[in-house]
Amino acid sequence: MREITEKSISDWIAEVPVIADVAAMKETVWMNDRLLPFDQAVRNSELTMDDVREASERLKRFSAYFQKAFPETRKDNGLIESPVCRIPEMQRAMEAKYGERIPGDLLIKLDSHLAVSGSIKARGGIYEVLCVAERIALEAGYLHLTDDYSVLCEEKCRKLFEKYAIAVGSTGNLGLSIGIIGAKLGFRVTVHMSADARQWKKDLLRSKGVLVKEYQNDYSAAVENGRKEAEKDPFCHFVDDENSRMLFLGYAVAAERLKRQLDEAGIAISREKPLYVYLPCGVGGGPGGVAFGLKMVFGDLVHCFFAEPVQSCCMMLGMATGLHNEISVRDFGLQNRTIADGLAVGRASGFVGRQMAPFMDGCYTVADERMSALLKMLADHENIWLEPSALAGMYGPVMLAPKRGGLPEGCHLVWATGGSMVPADEQQKYYQQGSLACREY
Ligand SMILES: *Cc1c(COP(=O)(O)O)cnc(C)c1O
Repeated sequence: MREITEKSISDWIAEVPVIADVAAMKETVWMNDRLLPFDQAVRNSELTMDDVREASERLKRFSAYFQKAFPETRKDNGLIESPVCRIPEMQRAMEAKYGERIPGDLLIKLDSHLAVSGSIKARGGIYEVLCVAERIALEAGYLHLTDDYSVLCEEKCRKLFEKYAIAVGSTGNLGLSIGIIGAKLGFRVTVHMSADARQWKKDLLRSKGVLVKEYQNDYSAAVENGRKEAEKDPFCHFVDDENSRMLFLGYAVAAERLKRQLDEAGIAISREKPLYVYLPCGVGGGPGGVAFGLKMVFGDLVHCFFAEPVQSCCMMLGMATGLHNEISVRDFGLQNRTIADGLAVGRASGFVGRQMAPFMDGCYTVADERMSALLKMLADHENIWLEPSALAGMYGPVMLAPKRGGLPEGCHLVWATGGSMVPADEQQKYYQQGSLACREY
């Protein structure tokens, strides 16, 4: 921290040029000069493919539980998974509007429509609660690894979980996922919500018996308070969004499943046609975990870019300076205020930053108006409705094209991270904001 306050912003810009754009709140791109060839990067990685496989196996064990507790997961055999689709109308509309060709396929991964909690958090957040539940039930002798996990729906298991608490700090969606699965299993759940969190998310959680604590300040403060409170209770598990390996691995399982989906759709990834993935980033766990999984599956054939609001570009700052969680957007006069509530994070996860430093291709930032405009365009052209955060990835192909003298041929996959649970009246407001933003963005 001291180092930052001692250096002036102009010193910083001399050292890390992208900070000029960051401080001026301009949309910008940062390419990662610490990216390593996959075989080198993986050699020094703390986490491995074995860790991802273990997470994948655990989720399979829980599939019988999900089919019973959340019947909407039956169509995917008790796995929480989302479709991947081509969006050709959106592709044409973007090419026409922004004057950049997007050569190859433009695809969207609809984590916005994941069962149970309607956002990418239905991967990591739910996975961490399952880890906790499994451990407790195994230790109590109520469960064995080879059992049908639907026994966890039984009253005696709920009674067991009632003795335990789960807490989390969130801008909204992580709280939703933890709250919904935690309450369903029987845990006492407390969600510490930052000021950005939407009212409907708090209402929904309270309707499920979750204790929601509201904060006037941003995400980092909500997490900090939640962590302190949880430490006082030996029966409380705190889901630490800034440091959790469990969350990260829950997200990472998406990759092997995506590979299967692309195979089934006849989309081959090759050196001639690599995969470019654009991931909205808040604290970093979601995009970091997914990107890590993708690197394990596709190696050098996948290129992952993290997308952040101009006001909340904590991952770009942390990566570009190498200071990770020791630097905040506030150090450069940014307020961390954005319409993209899922991405309203001013300080990135140090764990994710360090883990991903040799694996990620780069970061870029988008204006709030950009996300709004893209939200409207996607609704108009594809009838897909997302929350603003989930559109940060959509601008990736356009943002990166000039950096590379035109976009390379490939498969461009936009990770849509949330939105299916947004109430209709809120969605209409987002759409109207998009109609205004569309004129300039
Ligand atoms: C949480 C979230 C993200 C980003 O995940 P992080 O782990 O915070 O980086 C992106 N989009 C939406 C809609 C989210 O809720």
